[in-house]
Amino acid sequence: MMSNDKKSASAKRDYYSIKDGKLERTRRSCPKCGPGVFLSEHKDRSSCGRCGYTEFKSKKE
Ligand SMILES: [Zn+2]
Repeated sequence: MMSNDKKSASAKRDYYSIKDGKLERTRRSCPKCGPGVFLSEHKDRSSCGRCGYTEFKSKKE
């Protein structure tokens, strides 16, 4: 049977983005797990799905 796995194909595509001709990291790596593990971006925080490390984005307003 045919499986619908469009998700897995694009799973790793968002780690980098091109901005103003420069390669930019869109995701930050976890300081606890090391450079191989990326924090998942949320609106106001970044969190590691592996160890649970969470970094809140500071907004001074
Ligand atoms: Zn981690």
